[in-house]
Amino acid sequence: MAFPDRAPASHIAAGSIRASKPVVCARFDDAGACGKRIRLGIMGGTFDPIHVGHLACAEQVREAFGLEGVIFMPAGDPWMKRGRGVTDAEARFDMVKAAVADNPRFDASRLEIDRCGKTYTVDTLRALRAHYPENVELYFISGADALQHILEWRDADEVGRLARLVAVTRPGYEIDDARKRYMRTHGGIRHVSMFEATALAVSSTDLREKVRSGRSIRYLVPQVVADYIEQQGLYREACRPA
Ligand code: NAP
Repeated sequence: MAFPDRAPASHIAAGSIRASKPVVCARFDDAGACGKRIRLGIMGGTFDPIHVGHLACAEQVREAFGLEGVIFMPAGDPWMKRGRGVTDAEARFDMVKAAVADNPRFDASRLEIDRCGKTYTVDTLRALRAHYPENVELYFISGADALQHILEWRDADEVGRLARLVAVTRPGYEIDDARKRYMRTHGGIRHVSMFEATALAVSSTDLREKVRSGRSIRYLVPQVVADYIEQQGLYREACRPA
């Protein structure tokens, strides 16, 4: 199985003209160029590894919110997880890129992978806002468990101004009304939409544990991802702190 070549580091610049290598990602660099109002989804996550739950939920959010496409944005340095050890960013990116390749409405971006230092969502959204024209509305999609901590994120109020937020819940998990109210009053986060996706009972943590203990992950990740994990020998040992 061939995996995508790693593109060289790309840098984003306000108003930049499309260069030979993608700025955000090949499929959606020109989104909105026609002047039409469009919505673009940004699927933020560690993706360690990406699984069918992520893919199904991105597809469902795309449909429900009328998004032109969804850009998967693997976190470069998810520093809040340093205590547990996170798989190399290039390997996580390779898996994401391979997993989304067959859906013309999806793509993967290296923006956070290529940016040095800790990954902050606000930096990503600022870069995307500088790249896309005003007629492109951004929707930042992530797990509700992650988004409910948004008030602890850097410049949380700006995150809430730069993009609409879609918090994907798993069965049995919700951000309660009190938390939503708190987010609005303390962080100026007005647009948090909750979305209960089906097929999200699978989690990356479970998958890593399955591989470590020699159990099958077939059908829980795209086959191309299962092959990559096997070939690269990922997740065979318990995660060590970075
Ligand atoms: P996480 O703690 O790994 O995820 C929390 C939960 O949400 C997990 O159950 C996870 O399931 C699920 N999840 C994660 N991404 C998802 C997605 N796109 N769709 C559906 N479910 C998802 O959270 P994380 O991956 O570290 O962070 C999520 C996003 O928030 C990333 O883009 C990250 O950069 C951003 N973030 C920003 C800051 C900041 O700016 N300061 C701080 C923290 C996080 P799985 O384990 O199965 O994925």
